[in-house]
Amino acid sequence: MAHVSVPMYWRTIPQRYKMIGQKCKKCGAVNFPPKGVCKYCQTSSEFEEVQLSGRGKVHTFVLISAGGAPPEFAEQEKAGGQYPVAIVQLEEGPKMIGQIADVDPKEVKIDMPVKAELRKIYTEEEVIRYGFKFVPG
Ligand SMILES: [Zn+2]
Repeated sequence: MAHVSVPMYWRTIPQRYKMIGQKCKKCGAVNFPPKGVCKYCQTSSEFEEVQLSGRGKVHTFVLISAGGAPPEFAEQEKAGGQYPVAIVQLEEGPKMIGQIADVDPKEVKIDMPVKAELRKIYTEEEVIRYGFKFVPG
C-alpha cells in the first residue's frame, strides 16, 4: 500500500492530535494508538506510519446519563441529558472510543457512518482541552 499523504492542516496541530496509525510490516494490520509491538500478530515491531482518515462506523455504543461519567465528559453531564459514547471501527481497521456529537442520542445506530473531528472536550483551570469526537459522516 502506498504511503498516505498527510494533509497540510494536520501538520499545524500538535502531534498528539494527529491520527497517525502504524501499519505493521509483518501482518499489515493498523495499530492505533501506536504500540511498541503489533497487537495483532504480537511479533513485529516494524511499522510504517499511516495517516488515518478518521472515517469509520459505529461498532457499538452506550448512552451515558448523569453520574459515573469520566472527568472529560463532566461538562456534558452538567449540561444534562444523555449522550452517546461509541466504539468506532475505523476504515483502516483499528477501533477507537469517543463521544458522538451533533446527533440526537436516539438517532445513533450500529453501523452508522461517522468521522472524527477535533473538538473542544472540556475546560480545566481555564485551559481548553481538545480531543476527538465523532460526528455523523
Ligand atoms: Zn502485526
